[in-house]
Amino acid sequence: MNAVIFGAPGSGKGTYSTRLQDKLGVDVISMGDIFRTMLKENTILGRIIKRYVEAGLLVPDPIVVEVLADIIAHNPKGKGFILDGFPRTLAQAEALENIAKIDVIIELAVPDWIIIERLSSRRICKSCGAAYNLRFMKPQVEGICDRCGGSLFQRSDDNPTVIKMRLEVYQNETSPLICFYDTKSVPIIKHTTDALAMPPEKVVDHIVKELTRLTLI
Ligand code: ADP
Ligand code: ZN
Repeated sequence: MNAVIFGAPGSGKGTYSTRLQDKLGVDVISMGDIFRTMLKENTILGRIIKRYVEAGLLVPDPIVVEVLADIIAHNPKGKGFILDGFPRTLAQAEALENIAKIDVIIELAVPDWIIIERLSSRRICKSCGAAYNLRFMKPQVEGICDRCGGSLFQRSDDNPTVIKMRLEVYQNETSPLICFYDTKSVPIIKHTTDALAMPPEKVVDHIVKELTRLTLI
């Protein structure tokens, strides 16, 4: 099964895909995690990407498509994957058509006020990328990842000005892609969150139930 998970920043894409990875054994390809690793490497490409990521802007399509195509080419065949953070533009969605077949879309609908609350208290694991929240989804030991023992940090783009920019980019560039897949009759599993502290297990159970109903797992 190859899936794409769509949702605004802070909608839980990373949280739910990590849990689906643990539960179903599918791979998760997270574009944001890939870019954050590239930034740390301080190569020429890393420095170019950094300018966009830190401003909350999209990295140009040709760069993103090349990085993604290379990762999918090296992904073990047959296992299936969840794409988190790709495609984000129509050009990326069109390029993806020639790279892999997408079987299902997972759409996370979360109101802006919840997103802003969540992102400002979000912490990320340095080693495995798992997300926590100091207010509603605390790690068992302060500052330490439950999953791998890595240390937690706050992303530099999780600040109010950049969050606002990322929300706008999602609204304008990425959310229309749901329509793109709907037109192509790719099934869409939609989950709507209306509470600040939604237990992740509830959302994951809903997604698993729907994937089962669609006979994808
Ligand atoms: P978010 O929490 O906003 O969903 P991600 O961790 O997925 O963030 O991505 C962080 C940043 O990396 C984005 O704001 C953007 O600058 C860059 N990025 C990630 N994926 C893409 C993509 N598919 N196209 C262009 N830029 C991307
Ligand atoms: Zn971790």
